[in-house]
Amino acid sequence: MGEILFQNTLSGRKEPFEPLHAGEVRMYTCGPTVYDFAHIGNFRTFVFQDVLRRFLRSRGYRVRQVMNLTDVDDRIILNSQAAGIGIREYTDKYIAAFLEDMRTLSLEKPETIARATDNIDAMVSLVETLMERSYAYKSDGSAYYRIAKFPGYGKLSKVSFSGIQAGARVDVDRYEKDDARDFALWKEHKPGEHFWETPIGPGRPGWHIECSAMAMKYLGPTLDIHTGGVDLVFPHHENEIAQSEAATGKPFVRYWLHAEHLFVNGEKMSKSVGNFYTLRDLFARGYRPSAIRFLLASVPYRRQLNFTFDGLLQAANSVERLRNFVDRLKKEKLPATSAVAFGERIEEARRQFEAGLEDDLNTAQALAAVFDLVREVNSAIDRGEFATADTPAVLQFIELFDGIFAVMSGDDAAKLRELGYAVESAELSDEEIEAKVAERQQARQRRDFAASDRVRNELAEHGIILEDLKDGTVRWKRK
Ligand code: AMP
Ligand code: ZN
Repeated sequence: MGEILFQNTLSGRKEPFEPLHAGEVRMYTCGPTVYDFAHIGNFRTFVFQDVLRRFLRSRGYRVRQVMNLTDVDDRIILNSQAAGIGIREYTDKYIAAFLEDMRTLSLEKPETIARATDNIDAMVSLVETLMERSYAYKSDGSAYYRIAKFPGYGKLSKVSFSGIQAGARVDVDRYEKDDARDFALWKEHKPGEHFWETPIGPGRPGWHIECSAMAMKYLGPTLDIHTGGVDLVFPHHENEIAQSEAATGKPFVRYWLHAEHLFVNGEKMSKSVGNFYTLRDLFARGYRPSAIRFLLASVPYRRQLNFTFDGLLQAANSVERLRNFVDRLKKEKLPATSAVAFGERIEEARRQFEAGLEDDLNTAQALAAVFDLVREVNSAIDRGEFATADTPAVLQFIELFDGIFAVMSGDDAAKLRELGYAVESAELSDEEIEAKVAERQQARQRRDFAASDRVRNELAEHGIILEDLKDGTVRWKRK
């Protein structure tokens, strides 16, 4: 296996990946702000992170991933007040929904999931450290970060600050600051708002300090990987670097990996534009978790992905093709031996697959390696040239693939039923099946194997398995 390369936003280059501590990867992921249901744009970023951790684990690394849940911010305070409940009660509901969505999309659970409001102490002590080192100052009841004191500011986002005028708004909050660029670490208590009584005064944390405090609390001063969507590069991640490195004097993150956005008709999918779908929206329209996951994982994370329903249908077909393929390998009667050996070809596919993922998680290349092999093996089976001797190696390769893409093993229908969606059983009558089988026989007689495969796949979608018998007839059965 080759070396793993990651495109590091900090250096702007692809760099060979080596964790700081041998065999262990410490990774921090900015989690959702739990004021509402997450949309599939958010899940594009979370699926990328899951593919990343599964890939690293497949290479033998132990992964220690921390994901935060931002359960206090302006929107949460406003919405919970409007609902007449506390912020904790308000966010509990969306946290439960998020965790459920993670399971539905087969996202592995990070080793630590931390709520911001459970970690206020760590944030307060980080602000205190920054004040002791004069990187932070109090103004009225709030605390701000003094950007002028941190020369590295801008190194991640490459944003130049020379053009920013005094008085220009960089932060959303309107407080008294020494410099327009300075951002809030701690926000003064306002009447009626949720607050914590702390040694730095009553109030609540800013968003940026949350992530620095929790990342370093659980993973130490230097992390291997920090991930998020590209919208977080500036100011959020730039501010995380400024806070963390000013406090510890050590590099905060070695590899910064940012996912490009999911788009709809040329615009970023977002709550504020209103062009978003939640998983619930798509399930209600009959789409399956595995198809959604496949679609989100299929485009390499550094490329924008345009969401369309057509793309989602194609993703569903791709998953179906793979499932049918495995069914066929396991159930069809294959010759014990063949003049054509596939061992070398399977090994080549595996190399291509690994090489794709090694190249900054190029999932498109990895998938191409899988589907090329599937096509070749399918036609070899059609020709009677694929022998059972090669079956275990193919299945092993598919297992490696699914350990990372995780689209084949889950039972979509069962998951959806558990979530309360009606799933059609899509039963075909015996007559309908017989008609399809005859249609496939005719296609095979005119050697139109594409058409015959299509019918086979269609039947497989309805849970019908075909077995080609030696005498040229076909036996079918329900799964
Ligand atoms: P939020 O809940 O807004 O804090 O976002 C959670 C994660 O989703 C962050 O890593 C964002 O960068 C990411 N994100 C938000 N919108 C999109 C989108 N349209 N496509 C991909 N990732 C997104
Ligand atoms: Zn964050």
